[in-house]
Parts: sequence; C-alpha cells; structure tokens
Amino acid sequence: MKDLKLAGLKTERSTIEVNGVTIGGQEIILMGGPCAVESSLQMSQSAETVKKAGGKILRGGVFKPRTSPYSFQGLGLEGLNYLVQAAKEQNLLCVTEVVDAASLELVAGKVDILQIGARNMQNYELLKLAGKSKQPIILKRGLSATIEEWLLAAEYILASGNPQVILCERGIRTFEPSTRNTLDLSAVGVAKELSHLPVIVDPSHAAGRRDIIASLSKAAIAAGADGLLIETHPNPDEAVSDGPQSLTPEQFIELAGQLAVVAQSVKRVFRFGGQETLGDLRSQIDIVDQSIIELLADRMQIVRKIGDQKRLDRVKDTSRQNEITQRLMNLAAERQLPPDLVKRIYPLIFEYAVQSQIKSKLAQDQELEAALYPLGSK
Ligand code: PEP
Ligand code: MN
Repeated sequence: MKDLKLAGLKTERSTIEVNGVTIGGQEIILMGGPCAVESSLQMSQSAETVKKAGGKILRGGVFKPRTSPYSFQGLGLEGLNYLVQAAKEQNLLCVTEVVDAASLELVAGKVDILQIGARNMQNYELLKLAGKSKQPIILKRGLSATIEEWLLAAEYILASGNPQVILCERGIRTFEPSTRNTLDLSAVGVAKELSHLPVIVDPSHAAGRRDIIASLSKAAIAAGADGLLIETHPNPDEAVSDGPQSLTPEQFIELAGQLAVVAQSVKRVFRFGGQETLGDLRSQIDIVDQSIIELLADRMQIVRKIGDQKRLDRVKDTSRQNEITQRLMNLAAERQLPPDLVKRIYPLIFEYAVQSQIKSKLAQDQELEAALYPLGSK
C-alpha cells in the first residue's frame, strides 16, 4: 500500500515497551476498566478487578467524546487523578482518551498510554500532536474507516515523530443492528499483514452487549490480536456510560481465566492473575520446544538442498562446521549460555545433516539411473 512509508510492513514486527509491559510480543496484554471514570471508589474497584484478572493496564475515559451533547462528558482532571491513583494502587499502567490539544497537554506524562478514539481517528491535527508526544498511542479504528484510512492515520502519528502506535480494532458500522457495531476480525490479520504495528481488539464497543464479549475476546486472540481492551464496571447497571456492554468484575475475571488456553493454541501466552504459575511456565517451554523442532526441520530442509548441489565426496566440510560452531559458541556466550552446550549439540546436528545429504544424493542418483536405464541394464 503506497504511502505507508513508516507504518508499512518491515522484516520485523514492532513491539512497544511501556514501563515494563511489552505490547506486540508473545504475551497477550489485557487492558480493562470502565468506559468513563466516575468516582475514586469505582476506579479502585475496577483496578482491583483488572489486577486479579492478570490485566496490565487500567482504562477509563475522563474526556468522553459522546454522540449526544447531553450525555455525560467526563470528569476531566478530577477523573484523571482517580484513574492514575487507582492504577498506582494496583501497580498497573493506565490509558485514557485525549480529544484535543488541551486534553493531551493535561494528561501527558500522567498516564502511560494515550488513546485516540474512533471519532477522532481522522482528526489530523490531533494525530500530528500525538506524533509530537513521547508516549505510546492507542489508535482506534474510525467508525466507518477502511483499513487503509486507519493505517494512514497511524502514518500521521509516525510521520510526526512518534513510533509508538498501537492499532485498535473496535468494530465498524454495518447494516447489522443486533450489535452496536460489527467486530471486523479480518482487520486484525490484514493490518498485521500490511503493517508492523501491534494490533489490539476492543470487543466492548464492537458488540455493545456484554453477552458476547467473552467469545469475541477469544476469537480476537485466535485471529492474532496482541491484546484486548475490555470495559468492566463494578456495577454495570449503574454505569454512566456503556453499562450494557460492560462486564461485571466476576465476568471479567472469569473471561481472563479462559484466555490462557486460547493464547497457547496460537503460540501466545496470557498470564491469568498476573502470576506465572508452574503451568504457565511449562506451556511457555512447550512453545519454545516446538519452535526448536520446527527450526531444526527447516535447517534440515536447507541442508538437503545444499546437498543436492554438492558432489558426494564433498558432503562433509569440516572447516565450515568449525566455523559455524565457533560463531555459535560466541553467540551462546553473549546470551549467557554455556558455549559447551553448542559444542556438544552441534556435532549431532552436523552428523544428521551429512547423513541426510548422503541419503538425498543417493536417492537422486538412483532416480537418475532409473531414468537413464529404464530396463535396469547399464
Ligand atoms: C472508549 O474506548 O471509551 C471509546 C469511546 O471507544 P471508541 O472511540 O472506540 O468509540
Ligand atoms: Mn465506552
């Protein structure tokens, strides 16, 4: 896609490090909290819920861009203090939405991540200001924005000097009235195909109803999302905004408890309760072990191709083996691994590589012979 000069796909995916939390790495990052900050108690209860679930980031809007001018517009600075304080109590990071230059200036440096909402995705002056900020930006997809428009909005922020953009799919407007919006999970795959930026999913604003948030969240992880942004409220029936889509604390924690297996099935990790249990650590090891075998299989395949280009008496190349071993021993030392490990493992890998080259070469020779002398007579 043209003009995605900075947001376009590079060889490596970007991860965003924010005060000890990595977004876009192997771990699925859960963010949760109410739509709007209402009170100090509501925020400390929400923070407790997010923490118990293993969430890392507390959300809460203090400047609310509401569809109706008569709806609650947010508590502003007072709310910001409740959000920051509650996050601090539970050792969580926090995110809030900015809507203009004044709100950006007010929250800058106080929260860990700034959010640009769906309604402001094409507010180019705001995007440029966010680009001047040093803080990570969650950029929601606009209500009716194409993926290209969304990525170009991200490009505005990147082009203005801020490389830390997290894309957030939050549902788009369609003809379907049974949900508030339609969660476009294909957008996760497409955005990750076109861009190196992390992509998270907000199922709450997509669904508009709490009964399908759990299944959409799991589907989002399966679709490749790097994180989830989910609304939860200590008492959704009394929420000043988005109550019907907010999970109760119990539902939020229950959902989080189901995410680890889904994450594992797509080679990702989610740490329920924030703690690394023995089971979590074992599943991380299983993922690494699987990658080791897959990489060894890839190596063997390349080795066979090389073998096909060599003469049978040149299959074993000791000086090349020594060179590889030495290089990997140095690398091992750099990564705090005993170099001796390389010295012991690699001779085996070389031995099987040579055997497989010989086998593949002999099979090739036999095939050639059969083609040349179909009747078996030389
Ligand atoms: C929000 O996250 O509170 C919000 C208003 O979301 P969106 O901009 O996606 O509607
Ligand atoms: Mn909301």
